[in-house]
Amino acid sequence: MTITHGELLYEGKAKRIFACQDPQQVLVEFKNDATAFNAQKKAQLENKGRLNCLISACLFELLERHEIPTHYLGVSDDTWMVVQRVDVIPIEVVLRNTAAGSLCRETPISQGTALDPALLDLYYKDDDFGDPLLTDARIALLGVVSFELRQRMEDLVRRVNAVLLPFFKDLGLQLVDFKLEMGLNQAGELLVADEISPDTCRFWDINCADANERILDKDRFRKDLGGVIEAYGEVCKRVQGACPQPRNCR
Ligand code: UDP
Repeated sequence: MTITHGELLYEGKAKRIFACQDPQQVLVEFKNDATAFNAQKKAQLENKGRLNCLISACLFELLERHEIPTHYLGVSDDTWMVVQRVDVIPIEVVLRNTAAGSLCRETPISQGTALDPALLDLYYKDDDFGDPLLTDARIALLGVVSFELRQRMEDLVRRVNAVLLPFFKDLGLQLVDFKLEMGLNQAGELLVADEISPDTCRFWDINCADANERILDKDRFRKDLGGVIEAYGEVCKRVQGACPQPRNCR
């Protein structure tokens, strides 16, 4: 059966979500738009949508092989992914294996410090407020997730890290940190959703000592380092070399 896309349900910064024939599924289109600093910085990066779709598909299938539930069903074209429809929980969970980014801007911890056990930071997913860092008290006050659901989310993110950290290490990539979004499907199952790509993870080339050259993720765009797509392409090449071709849902 050919999957045709229906109405546009939602347009985000990097993806568009469309309805499809099956009401339990949606189609995700990965766009070439790159944004940073809450969309204050914008650009079009040719091929980004294709690379992020392919990398995410491979990683979702890797998680699936490790019995980690995700919303992923398959790809339907270069930049299109078929996923289960979920209610996305408005909390972004960032797992940090190594200190970088906002952790180093907001605290005296220096970049590159190993964090073991990994640090989990929860952010409220709301662009109007600039995705603020949450505290336990604010989570309770906002009532966005119950204590029990929050525990399940944190467990799931740590399980994802336990798969991804050694996977990337074998590819010569240090998984510095990553952001996950999760959702609940119709059956109430908690699933990894959104994407896992150089837009949402930090990767440092293990065999490169230079602090800028080693960056193979969106920090190249944030910091105007150039070679953004080449870096995404390098991550994609290494991931593809270790994963089967993603299944097609067409
Ligand atoms: N991240 C993301 N979306 C966001 C914020 C962060 O995907 O809205 C990812 C980011 O790419 C990095 C990790 O989460 O891999 C941690 O980001 P951090 O909090 O250090 O913020 P940043 O330095 O990007 O402002």
